Amino acid sequence: MWICKDCKNVFDECYRDYETHGLDTPPYEKILRCPHCLICNPAFAYKCENCNDYTDRVIDGYCEDCAKELMQSFKEQITRMFPNSKDRHFLLYNALCEQDWGLV
Ligand SMILES: [Zn+2]
Ligand SMILES: [Zn+2]
Repeated sequence: MWICKDCKNVFDECYRDYETHGLDTPPYEKILRCPHCLICNPAFAYKCENCNDYTDRVIDGYCEDCAKELMQSFKEQITRMFPNSKDRHFLLYNALCEQDWGLV
């Protein structure tokens, strides 16, 4: 599956186009376009394990929205488990430092 980064449509097959670069005969450069808007911006589509939506970017199997939501609930869980903010900050920092979630 593919997803267009411009119109966000998901499709099985890209529209195949050629860029001749002014050449009269092949080989021409092959270009993959979105069949919906014909903009040349398709990306491989991944399915989110949580909401089953397709996205061009997954974080541990989840789309960005779901990943953020899960991280938010993870943060709330940690807050309940570790009321001491010093422990909590250490844990959250370690869990979140690889991604810029804007949560810490
Ligand atoms: Zn498109
Ligand atoms: Zn999702």
